[in-house]
Amino acid sequence: MRLAIRGGRLIDPAAGRDGIADLFVASGRIQAIGETPPDFQADREIDAAGQVVCPGLVDMHVHLREPGQEWKEDIASGSRAAVAGGITSLACMANTSPVNDRRSVTEQIKARARDVGLARIHPVGAVTVGLGGETLTEMNELASAGCVAFSDDGVPLAGAGVMRRAQEYAATFGYLLILHEEEPALSAGGTMNEGPHATRMGLGGIPNAAEDIMIARDLILAELTGARIHIAHVATAGGVELIRSAQARGLAVTGEAAPHHLFLTDTDVGAFDSHAKMAPPLRSAADREAVRAAVADGTLSAIATDHAPHEADAKNEAFACCANGVTGLETLLGLTLRLVDEGVLDLATALHRVTRGPAELLGLDAGRLAVGDLADLCVFDPEAEWEVDPEAMFSRSLNSPFAGWRLRGRVTRTLVGGLEVFPFGGTG
Ligand SMILES: [Zn+2]
Repeated sequence: MRLAIRGGRLIDPAAGRDGIADLFVASGRIQAIGETPPDFQADREIDAAGQVVCPGLVDMHVHLREPGQEWKEDIASGSRAAVAGGITSLACMANTSPVNDRRSVTEQIKARARDVGLARIHPVGAVTVGLGGETLTEMNELASAGCVAFSDDGVPLAGAGVMRRAQEYAATFGYLLILHEEEPALSAGGTMNEGPHATRMGLGGIPNAAEDIMIARDLILAELTGARIHIAHVATAGGVELIRSAQARGLAVTGEAAPHHLFLTDTDVGAFDSHAKMAPPLRSAADREAVRAAVADGTLSAIATDHAPHEADAKNEAFACCANGVTGLETLLGLTLRLVDEGVLDLATALHRVTRGPAELLGLDAGRLAVGDLADLCVFDPEAEWEVDPEAMFSRSLNSPFAGWRLRGRVTRTLVGGLEVFPFGGTG
């Protein structure tokens, strides 16, 4: 299968490329950029005039809910949502049921992802058995089964001693630990950001310190262990500053921001809107500005959705009781481009944070457009405006906090290994 994509604006942040160029694919890989290779006979041509052609997006923080909670999402529906959002590679978190804390679960996820055959799905293994925070998993075994990183995400790892041993284990093998930072002693009883809004609404607050203390602890331990740690969904100015200064000291620490923390604040909880409830919570405007600046300067080198689908019933409860989390796969590109429109990032940097940035963190052969690379591509119309309508999305759940937002930039085609996987029912 030989494919020529002609006339698109090719943007590859990893290579500093941005310009109109043709792209040629053979046997699932990029064969040439620019000049038609000699004796190249395309089986198919795509006219990409007026479109941006960039690496397929990489989302390093996704909850696919399979196995165990398929009424919220499964690997098939999550994969459809991903490729509809231009995402060609994603990492799925271990808080499934059963937890991905053993080889058989990892293998089940990988087999199912292969059957679905849309996005490339990379499981994240649990750090502790059953996310129980006590007994370390056989990370080595999980890595050999295909886990690309380790995380108890969804549950903070409260015990400093267990965290130290987890870091030592991970450091021995060079594994990446992805950390959900929340000191339970400080977040207990809280359901939103601690501050005047929580007080006015009579809701228990979660102070920034709940995040900052855990980040500080784990950075101190990383200094001791030499582990590579990655802080998930950084939401506080203090957390940003801790990571930035640790990086300046040479520590192997990285971080990511979630779109909801880049656009929303605790005032968006409004009248107890359950779609504004997540962990960590939406913070203040000053925190949001700090997280934006950190994505711009690279302190946080990835934007990751923390896609956390929930059925309506899980959200239709009192704010204090309802489930944490929001969907994100299908709004990632539009919101990332909105950061460009709002002057937070230039286009190349913005696309880097959703392509090569996360791919590098996970050690994936993805997120760039060099000759020989897998032809995982996102083609989008940078001018197309659309309104976020959860009912029209491919995710099984509707819990987007961005419903009704108008976004600019819409995915028109997604290719994985040179095959068109979106729009659905295409010519392949
Ligand atoms: Zn988390």
